Amino acid sequence: MNHERSRALYDRALDAMPGGVSSPVRATRPYPFFVERGDGAHVVDADGNRYLDYAMGYGPLLLGHDMPEPVRAAVQSAASEGPMYGAPTEIEVELAEFIARHVPSVEMVRFVNSGTEATVSAVRLARGHTGRDKIVIMQGGYHGAQESTLVEGSPGARNPSTKGVPASFAEHTIPVPFNDPDAIQEVFAVHGEEIAAVLTEPILANRGIVMPIEGYHETLRELCDEHGALLVFDEVITGFRVGGLGCAQGKFGVTPDLTTFAKVIGGGFPVGAVGGPAEIVESFAPTGEVFQAGTFSGHPVGMAAGLETLKFAAENDVYEHVNRLGEQLRAGLTDLLADRAPAYTVVGTDSVFKTVFTRKSPPELDGQCRTGCAQRPDCPRFEHCPKTGEDVSRAATERWERLFRPAMKDRGVLLTANQFEAQFVSDAHTQADVEATLDAYADAL
Ligand SMILES: *Cc1c(COP(=O)(O)O)cnc(C)c1O
Repeated sequence: MNHERSRALYDRALDAMPGGVSSPVRATRPYPFFVERGDGAHVVDADGNRYLDYAMGYGPLLLGHDMPEPVRAAVQSAASEGPMYGAPTEIEVELAEFIARHVPSVEMVRFVNSGTEATVSAVRLARGHTGRDKIVIMQGGYHGAQESTLVEGSPGARNPSTKGVPASFAEHTIPVPFNDPDAIQEVFAVHGEEIAAVLTEPILANRGIVMPIEGYHETLRELCDEHGALLVFDEVITGFRVGGLGCAQGKFGVTPDLTTFAKVIGGGFPVGAVGGPAEIVESFAPTGEVFQAGTFSGHPVGMAAGLETLKFAAENDVYEHVNRLGEQLRAGLTDLLADRAPAYTVVGTDSVFKTVFTRKSPPELDGQCRTGCAQRPDCPRFEHCPKTGEDVSRAATERWERLFRPAMKDRGVLLTANQFEAQFVSDAHTQADVEATLDAYADAL
């Protein structure tokens, strides 16, 4: 493959943008390829190389790179009528109604412009509504580039995870290990009266994909109820991706107080949202006293793209298609790994998948989860599969990133930049793509 144009563009980009990119995960080594255009399940780079894409914009592109006709028409008409107004439009009412109709815990939504903005607003809302300051987050979880959640460590020793965040934020944010009921029980025993919210992804989807063990979400729900804290599900990745139109909370049968959305609900455009019951969401201004605002919020082009994308998904069996292909991929990978790398774990659910290069092989594989780690206690891999973000970090992440991913890219299959980021099947992927992908894995592993 020739990469001359990408190389030259990166050379220019390094002088104009820090690290040559607009978001750090894109700075893959030795230099990223620059995208020329999308084409269904594929992307074409600046040198004309074509890749089968499983990054899918890191989650938003449920339908693939081509907008189906109704989505394209709605986007073009919203753009040509005038890009935005700073006044309400019908389309945002329709998207809000659509979300409230399908997501069990949501009565009302406040629209914003990204996942980060959604989690910032949800945390402020939870604090304002409860009159408390502390939040609990999961180690290895991701809630965007925001001060209150860029905190790492343990309940007893915590600090900002990046420069630029004052240490005082870590006073109010308590990270606990995912899937560890005892750890969060202890935190509530000490700080129960001060905790405004527990903020978690329903599955850790930014750290290799970790499913909840049985009963974990129920424990979170009970602890929050007992202590008057809000349970906030960050469904920025899982929303309208895992669990179909009911989202991950529908799949797991757990009702959070607040939910954050972004990625899929914008149909490829920058949209975010905070949803929940009116009683809580109306704490936002102008009905309530928690200030939140945005010039671009409810942007008509993003609203049109989001609404038509979700309607298209609902009317065209999109979830059946992407979930079936996701399952085939995970089952195929499970067979391949049993043969070639029995220590590695296949993770994911619905249309999300990943291989985690865990280091220990179970003594036997008979009866292991067939379509991605489901945290089944009777699975022979149960003791070895990742339960926490830390477990994923301890896997062979360098091998995954420096050797395996480039080998897949050379074979025309584009995976996400590192072992932590989830991979996505879109409606544009086909059975033949899945087969070609499994051949590439067999070759590269
Ligand atoms: C991507 C992501 C965010 C941040 O969303 P942006 O649109 O990138 O700001 C927040 N939470 C989760 C779970 C995410 O996956």
